[in-house]
Amino acid sequence: MERQHKKIPVGVLGATGMVGQRFIELLQNHPWFEVVALAASGKHNGRSYAESTVWRLSGSDMPATAAALPVVACRPEEMPDVKIVFSALPGEIAGEIEIAFAQAGVAVFSNAKNHRMAADVPLLIPEVNADHIAAVAQQQRQRGWSGFIITNANCSSTPLVMALKPLQQAFGVSKVLVTTLQSISGAGYPGLPSYDIIDNAIPYISGEEEKVESETLKMLGDWREGQGFADAPLVVSAHCNRVATREGHLECASIELERDASPEEIIATWENYVPEPQSVQLPSAPVHALHYRHEHDRPQTLRDRDAGNGMTVTLGRLRRCPILSYKFVMLGHNTIRGAAGGSILNAEWCVHKGLL
Ligand code: NAP
Repeated sequence: MERQHKKIPVGVLGATGMVGQRFIELLQNHPWFEVVALAASGKHNGRSYAESTVWRLSGSDMPATAAALPVVACRPEEMPDVKIVFSALPGEIAGEIEIAFAQAGVAVFSNAKNHRMAADVPLLIPEVNADHIAAVAQQQRQRGWSGFIITNANCSSTPLVMALKPLQQAFGVSKVLVTTLQSISGAGYPGLPSYDIIDNAIPYISGEEEKVESETLKMLGDWREGQGFADAPLVVSAHCNRVATREGHLECASIELERDASPEEIIATWENYVPEPQSVQLPSAPVHALHYRHEHDRPQTLRDRDAGNGMTVTLGRLRRCPILSYKFVMLGHNTIRGAAGGSILNAEWCVHKGLL
């Protein structure tokens, strides 16, 4: 899909962190967006990104264009030219900062938890609930903002919801039991002390299970004009675990379908799923939103997390469940599909729909 106009100037909040670095990597040479401003905590005092940041991504170098930019504080007046900010700020401080940008007329695409469940904020995965961006008009009306906030989901909710959406449409889904094996990069940098995570698995990630259980219902639910969001009528139970992988969240789910289906029908439903971002070929949309692998031991975190440049959710091991209807495994890249890449796709969808 071509966009002929000048590139849209964008900024990154939390640019020095794990997700911030992913944003900068993925926005390099983006056909529609150009990074013109970078922000983090005030401690950088306008020093350049190269001086302020240790680049921690494997397989890429810090883009030269970003390296030369100053790192400013997260205030709209410090970034006067941006039309969009991508927020990779910690939840402890993201809420008020993102509101200040939206008030100042900026479109905010956030990875933080703060506004995800608000009644007028889309929690968006364009392959799942593209129509939820209709909530932006109400958000702007009610809050008197010329900008807006759109969030993406928690990195473990994202693959689950993408796997469930086509099944919900085809067969109905009433119950979901999911167990996650989440990588250490999900905890940001420096994350967990090595002494706690090497040779270990930790059966607790603060707030994570609650997020998976609530965000899934909002994303699979409806936006009703004049009424708001209505949760999908299903129940989700999540167990969230931290394991000693670097990137990629592997998840094992058992689900109950409302109408029985054969394994072949379910796999075909996933394989034939071509939602709008794929059909209009948004720049960050992978060719396949979902990819089912037929080998008995896939998906694997190390081997499959980079599928579709980290934007494809890989599925496998579909089999009958003796308690619910079916069980299967899925994998999503947490800092790409579950964070920066997902946010960029959200912004592309808004450009495509004329919101920007
Ligand atoms: P991180 O590595 O800890 O990075 C945090 C960033 O926020 C850094 O750039 C840091 O800048 C900046 N920051 C910290 N305190 C600040 C302050 N008071 N004012 C302004 N900036 C401040 O965290 P992360 O993993 O990138 O996560 C960022 C956000 O994305 C979080 O809300 C997280 O929950 C969410 N998220 C993360 C993932 C993932 O897989 N990691 C997935 C989905 C969503 P300094 O260099 O100045 O300290």
